[in-house]
Order: sequence, then structure tokens, then C-alpha cells
Amino acid sequence: MLKPESTIGILGGGQLGRMLAMAAARLGLRCHIYSPEADSCAFDVADAVTVAAYDDEAALARFAEAVDVVTYEFENVPAQTAAVLAAHREVQPDPQVLAKTQDRLIEKQAIAALGIATAPFRPVDSAIEAFAAAAALGVPAVLKTRRLGYDGKGQRMIGSADEAAMAFAALGEVPCILEGFVRFEREVSVVAARGVDGTVACFDLTENEHRDHILRRSIVPATASAALEQEAQRIAERIATAFDYVGVLAVEMFAVRDGAGEILVVNEIAPRVHNSGHWTIDGATVSQFEQHIRAVAGWPLGQPVRHGRVEMLNLIGSEVNDAARWLTAPGACVHLYRKGEARPGRKMGHITRILPG
Ligand code: AMP
Repeated sequence: MLKPESTIGILGGGQLGRMLAMAAARLGLRCHIYSPEADSCAFDVADAVTVAAYDDEAALARFAEAVDVVTYEFENVPAQTAAVLAAHREVQPDPQVLAKTQDRLIEKQAIAALGIATAPFRPVDSAIEAFAAAAALGVPAVLKTRRLGYDGKGQRMIGSADEAAMAFAALGEVPCILEGFVRFEREVSVVAARGVDGTVACFDLTENEHRDHILRRSIVPATASAALEQEAQRIAERIATAFDYVGVLAVEMFAVRDGAGEILVVNEIAPRVHNSGHWTIDGATVSQFEQHIRAVAGWPLGQPVRHGRVEMLNLIGSEVNDAARWLTAPGACVHLYRKGEARPGRKMGHITRILPG
């Protein structure tokens, strides 16, 4: 268990690193942020910063020596970067988890091995395999690159086997996975924390709406029966425990109609704090960011209590120019990330609203 005033090293300088550092400060812990970009928004709220590339082994070693534990705010940490850090300092969550979640095929196989439902899937390494996989799984289907996809990047909807072969070429002929299209009622997620002692604490099930593949709005509680919510939390707990995970992870799921009820199909795991958990900063007594800091510091997890019905709206691209109107809206909390240019699709901030009733 780290002493108060210890230093958490965070790899990555975006808004997730920024909100982690703010949560750490509340607990009397310091943060040192490592990012290749000199203008990283997390630097504004950090005690120390390193500007260096993720393959600068000397800078990584100095950073690791300067902190008490290392964590990260994104999942695509290169394996070699994690190995260099781990040679000098404890890294949490264990970089071995990244090997499971950086590759959509390995991730789906790991989830399926736990007896948890996923969309049907097939590995695709050639145009012929893309054609054959679409013929076998049926259409519609979704072709996704195995690595480095996010916010809908690196994926294509498939309406026919011919289209699958063409989409494989359009995605750059890199290793892919073809997934059957899931006709879901809604998308939900569980943000869960697991402590070093194996305790798991889940936030309430969150309902998520996407626009152009980017999370637009989250609402809590989700439209779901108590049994479905418990099942979603059991799934997240099973995954966190099986991965021997320490820190916060998010499990994104589809709720699918099944007779009179609904069942859950896991879409993907994010081994980090997650956009669908941003509501917890203002909407719960302990946020996802604080839970992550507690977990990696070896502190006991909190038992968060939610402050009523909560909505989170992302401010995407130019929507941030209109943020001032939220300053006076009842129950609204305004979060702006200081990310500079409001490029289309870029997450610039978010609003949390505590809703009446
Ligand atoms: P992902 O990059 O896997 O998180 O996918 C981004 C979004 O695309 C999801 O949030 C869904 O809205 C949609 N999507 C992804 N995979 C599927 C699927 N197999 N069936 C239906 N919709 C999907």
C-alpha cells in the first residue's frame, strides 16, 4: 500500500490521464505523466511530466525510477514499452492483460473461454478467408482489424461475401476478425474496479448511445431488469478475476432480446478507465478515476453510492464551442479538457447532469 504523497506514474497525457491525476490529488497522491506530446492536456494538473517517445528506453527507465507505481490511460501501450517499465517498477494493471485486449481475436477467444457470450466470430487473414467467413457466419457482419481500432476506426459493415473481400482490402489487408452483426436492443457497459486483494467493486450498469461509432451519451441507471444488471456485473467480475486484473476496466456489452427477456453479449473490454464511466465523477461518491488510483496504489476500493439519476453528454468536436450554455443549466457539471483545436470527432469535454427524480 503506497503512503500518502507517493507518486503514481501515468503513461499517456490525454483527458483520461488528466482526470486520473485530479482524482489522485484529492487523495493526497502525486502524479508524473509521461507523454510524447509537449502540449498534453494532462500536464496541466500533474506534479511532474516527461515528454518523450514511447520507445525512448532511457526516458522510460528514468520515469519508472522517479515514481512509486506505473499505470496507463490507454490500452495500446507497446509491449516493449511495458517491458522496460516493468523491469524498473511495478506496473498495474499487469501488462500481460494488454496482450489479451490489444488483439480483438485473442480478446474474444479469452471471453468465450470463460463461457461468456460474444458475437460469433472468425479470424480473417486474406480476401479468400473474408469471403469464406462471411459465407459461413452470414450477413450482415462487421469486419474489424484485430489491432488498433477505436471509435469505429478500422471496421466496416458487410452486406455480402463479396463486400467482405473488398473490405479486407480497404482495411489494408491486415489481420482482421469478422463478427456476426448483433441486433441489440441497447448498448450497456459495466465499469468495474479490482483491488490488489481481489475485491471487485462495480459501478451501476450504464446505458450508452453512440453516434458515428463515438459515445455520445450515457445514462444511469440503464433500462434493464435487476437480474440483467446483476448478470452484467457478474460478467465484469468474472473477467477481472480471470485476468488477475488490478485497476479499473470497462466491459462493453449488447443487450439482446431473448423471448420475453434480454441476454448480454460482450462486445469488448477496455483495460482502463472508460468514457462510459465519466458520470461517476459528479454522479457518485467515489469516481472510476479514484477507484483506479486506489487500486494501483494498493489502497482499499471505495464503495460508491450514486447521486440519483445521472446523464453524461460528450462534447464532440465543435460542440465544445457551445459549452457555456451548460454553465447555468440545473444539475449540470461542466468538464472541459483543454485539448486545443476542436477537430471533428475529437472528445473535447463532457457534461454530467444529475437529473430530477
Ligand atoms: P467497437 O469498436 O467494437 O467498440 O464497435 C463500435 C460500435 O460499433 C459498437 O459500440 C456498436 O455500436 C457497433 N458494433 C460493433 N460490433 C458490432 C457487432 N458485432 N454487431 C452490431 N454492432 C456492432
